[in-house]
Formats: sequence, structure tokens, C-alpha cells
Amino acid sequence: MGTHRGAGRFAPSPSGDLHLGNLRTALLAWLFARSTGRAFGIRIEDLDRVRSGADERQLADLAALGLDWDGPVVRQSERLTLHHAAIDRLTAAGLTYECYCTRREIQQAAAAPHGPMGAYPGTCRDLSEAERTARCADGRPAALRLRSRTTEFEIVDGLRGRYRGIVDDFVLRRGDGTPAYNLAVVVDDADQGIDQVVRGDDLLPSTPRQAYLATLLGANVPRYAHVPLVLNQDGKRLAKRDGAVTLADRRALGESPQQVFALLADSLGFRANHPHELLEQFAPAVLPTTPWILASGDVVEPSRNP
Ligand code: GLU
Repeated sequence: MGTHRGAGRFAPSPSGDLHLGNLRTALLAWLFARSTGRAFGIRIEDLDRVRSGADERQLADLAALGLDWDGPVVRQSERLTLHHAAIDRLTAAGLTYECYCTRREIQQAAAAPHGPMGAYPGTCRDLSEAERTARCADGRPAALRLRSRTTEFEIVDGLRGRYRGIVDDFVLRRGDGTPAYNLAVVVDDADQGIDQVVRGDDLLPSTPRQAYLATLLGANVPRYAHVPLVLNQDGKRLAKRDGAVTLADRRALGESPQQVFALLADSLGFRANHPHELLEQFAPAVLPTTPWILASGDVVEPSRNP
């Protein structure tokens, strides 16, 4: 992708169909990129939670709404060599260690009164050689963690402003040998020349970890914009059980992709049936800063077979 002009991206996990909230985030990522003259790419983050056929349906839905992208769609699973090379560089720099903790042990240790909430407490950070050998002998597959030299890092978010958050010894490579999301996302964004990251604000708390890791790898920290999620009327994250929430659901009710697009545009405060029509009016400064609550009038219950 043209690194000289910069690039944005949408990076869905192919775990199922995109719902209206994901589609809206994709639209925003496209708008931010296109309105700043950047390239726009799609990266399928298929290292985890893959449902067969979901990637193709996600791409078809994005295209049906009128979104376009540059270059071939990138799949994270085809980039493992890059991820492992980055892990090796960190290891060579003394910035990793093996961790034998189970999820349960981490939860118990993290609940202890010391250390920031939600942070790995460093149980395996300073094991002696003998302790390490003993834990290896238990046969537990070791994860590889970052030996972080900080506990906090500050990023600047285009919508949220300054945000300071925890950096712990997060996992770089899982026990099964797969690169962890936080590692892969940083390596791929850097390698692909992505300098603008627009995504759901559920990922804001992970962003200081990712930005810090980028600095350790000698990569530029991208510009971030974390956009509000779509919530149901109970203020909870939109889910399948909330009714007609995917493009396929809406189509089954007789709505056209243009009507769905118009609904997404309306949620952003614009009237438009197509991305290019919206692009002419788009400015980040006028975006709503609060979550979009999908009203029941907006969500129609899927009709059931008699
Ligand atoms: N694949 C991640 C998700 O679908 C998004 C990662 C990102 O945009 O950085 O939640």
C-alpha cells in the first residue's frame, strides 16, 4: 500500500457476520482514510476465532454497502513469518520471557491487592533456572511474554484525546505457538504502512500496550481514532439476540443495502445512501461522541417461519 500517503485499514476477525456496529466502524475507518487521502486496506485477523466462510461474507457485506479498498485483502495467517521474526528480535534484545501460568493462576494473582487491575502480575518474570526447569517439566506449554520496561504508556486519540493506560507483561506468543493479537496487530500495521487506526473503543485499553510495543520494534505509532460502539437499548454491546443486526438479517426483512447504509449514515448525523455521498460531508469533528443506541424501531425482529 502507498506508504508515502499513509494508509488506514479495517481489520475484522472472521468469527461471524459483521453486525451494524462493525459495519459502522468499517465505514468510519473508510471515511477517515479517504477523507485524508490515505489508502484503505482490509486485513482479516484470522489467528483466532475463525468461522468458515465468515471472511467472504464480511467482504461481500462491505462491498454491498459501497465500501472499496486498495490492494489485495491481507490475511494475518499468511504473515506468521513476520510475526515470529519480530518476536525473535524482541527475544534477542532480552525483552521476552516464558510464562507457565494458567488462566486461573493469573486471575487469582491479579486479584491480589498489589499491582494494577487487569495486569499480569509478573509471576514468571524472574524465575530462577531451576524454577523454570521445574515448571517446564510439568509439561505446560509456555506462552511468551513481553518483559516490559514500563507500567504505563500514553497515546493520543483523535477522538478521545490523551489516554494513559496500563502496559503489563502482555502475551506475545500464546502457549500453542500462535502470535498473540497485540503482537500481530502491531507488526502488521507497521509492515503495511498503516499510519491511521480507526476501530471500536473497546480496544482503547489495549492501545497503550500496542503503541509501546511499536516503539520497541522501532515502528511509528499510528494515529488512533477509537469510535463508540453500538449498544442495544439496555446499554449493552449489540449482539445477535438483539434482533436484525446483520446485513443479511436486514435484507431478509426487505431492506436494501442502501437503506442499511442510510441508517448507518443517520447514526453518524448524516443523510446519505452511499459512502461517496457521505464522504463529501464528512468531518471527524462533528461525529457523535456517545455510543449509538439502536432503538427497537431501528431493529426489526426477524420474522419467524410459521
Ligand atoms: N480484529 C480486531 C477485532 O475485530 C480489531 C483489531 C484492530 O482493529 O486493531 O476486534
